[in-house]
Amino acid sequence: MSGKLFVIGFGPGSFDHITKRAREAIEESDVIIGYTTYVDLIRGLLTGQEIVSTGMTEEVSRAREAVRQAEAGKKVAVISSGDAGVYGMAGLVYEVLVEQGWTRANGVEVEVIPGISAINSCGALLGAPIMHDACTISLSDHLTPWELIAKRIDAAGQADFVVALYNPRSGRRTRQIVEAQRILLKYRSPDTPVGIVKSAYRERERIELTTLANMLEHDIGMLTTVIIGNSSTFVYDGLMITPRGYQRKYTLTTDEQALKPHQRLRVENEPWSLEAQAGSGGVHAAPSPASEESAAAVLDASTGQREQPDADRTPYEWAMQALAALHADKGPETAALQAGSPPSGFVPELIFECAVSPGVANKKFTPQQMLALAELAGEKGEIEYTPHHQIILRVPTADPGAVTERLRQLGLVLMPTGDVVQVKACDFCDGEKKDGIAYAEEIHQKLGGQEMPKELKIGFNGCGMACYGAVKEDIGIVFRKGKFDLFLGAKTVGRNAHAGIPVAEGIAPEEIVPLIERIVARYKRDAFPNERFHKFFQRVGEIEGFVWREPAAPKIENAVCGD
Ligand code: SAH
Repeated sequence: MSGKLFVIGFGPGSFDHITKRAREAIEESDVIIGYTTYVDLIRGLLTGQEIVSTGMTEEVSRAREAVRQAEAGKKVAVISSGDAGVYGMAGLVYEVLVEQGWTRANGVEVEVIPGISAINSCGALLGAPIMHDACTISLSDHLTPWELIAKRIDAAGQADFVVALYNPRSGRRTRQIVEAQRILLKYRSPDTPVGIVKSAYRERERIELTTLANMLEHDIGMLTTVIIGNSSTFVYDGLMITPRGYQRKYTLTTDEQALKPHQRLRVENEPWSLEAQAGSGGVHAAPSPASEESAAAVLDASTGQREQPDADRTPYEWAMQALAALHADKGPETAALQAGSPPSGFVPELIFECAVSPGVANKKFTPQQMLALAELAGEKGEIEYTPHHQIILRVPTADPGAVTERLRQLGLVLMPTGDVVQVKACDFCDGEKKDGIAYAEEIHQKLGGQEMPKELKIGFNGCGMACYGAVKEDIGIVFRKGKFDLFLGAKTVGRNAHAGIPVAEGIAPEEIVPLIERIVARYKRDAFPNERFHKFFQRVGEIEGFVWREPAAPKIENAVCGD
């Protein structure tokens, strides 16, 4: 009789989530080898097998014992929770075998049986947080040097992976999770959704939703998996959801701009969506004859017959079919609409977005410009008035070139939206104090629209009254008596907003533009993604010889958006 080695992942812990093959293998085995807690979890499936259970740290001796018994002719099951190949026993068993010269042809038979890993079970309990590119990182530095773990967290943060942290914290390992949070905050918003699941599918299961900023306030231990969303992950009705793709919005720089969840869900921002297809005939052609075929497929599906070969179907069609089946009781018409596959030649329209203004100093739109803007926006577009002297125009179009050409014909100044430089000049008292205008225009021309780590507003006011609030912008320039005063690092948002630090007075006219260019270039080069200018200034302490100093800020509790 020859022995056999099963390496079994038994899933998160409930019998409902063990695979059939894992159950069979446990049944077939003579010996079960595993960590005591794990043996207890599957005890209900045992039928008199011999049990070799050991403590957590004796993994190597467990693996050796398993190999020894299998070679002696027994069927041995080495068990791991989740999947045995994910921080489990599978690798270790092979290492022990390799060490003693085992080969597949001549050695004892090995079968690794996959299980549902914590990233999957915890993900399911949270909603659909994984969905897109994700990674697992174990915070245990027992066998891996911390520097390497930190490097991986950094890389995952930078590349916008969804991150599942295994072994996040133990009684004695408490610093790692704090450090992980700090690293991820370099790249991700403090509001990033974070799901914390303890004992998934076991007794005392607990599921909590929090944010990257607040995650440490929750109970995190050895039975917990922490899932950190990517930049698009959102929370809806207590569920953590990572959309399958990123936004489809673009601006002048044609860069992708992340849409906020509520914006994504608008029909016009997802022109390929079910609603956009089935809804008004406005943006897209009404469902073509192709949808009748799909309707037929749906009816067949309800009788359990397939018309199209599986391979021909896209995930989109499968999803449509499932939805149509759900809606089938609403009558065949709805079903047909819901099932509509994209009409052939379907080109999803994207939302083109850009900011428009009458000029750098000019604040007055002409009636003709207003009318034309309304016309361009049409029924489906949007015109938004912002607090930054800009009107944002959003138009569903597959031809942004035509839109920008029309806007330029109208004499409007166009700017990309998002994390770019914006010059916010005053109106120079309707042009009466015109001496500064040329400088404002030059700065706009040289820097306006340049991409930055975070939006960067340069305020430019034409006299010492500074009535357009230049000192309240990231960079404030005040033209006064033929020279310039400079303010840096205002906190432009928040209840504890404050003016910029007055760093220089009387800067000569020929110096101001190159100086601003150097300041902006430094910020662009050295700031972290999403780091606001004032935070950057505070962190680096000095820019172009100007030194950051603590502004007299009132003591006030921070509030997040919506509070
Ligand atoms: N092989 C296992 C992982 C073992 S490492 C798997 O594939 O899931 C141990 C870590 O896994 C724990 O610290 C925790 O982060 C995670 N984990 C395992 N089971 C879990 C469960 N039921 N609920 C939450 N986290 C779990």
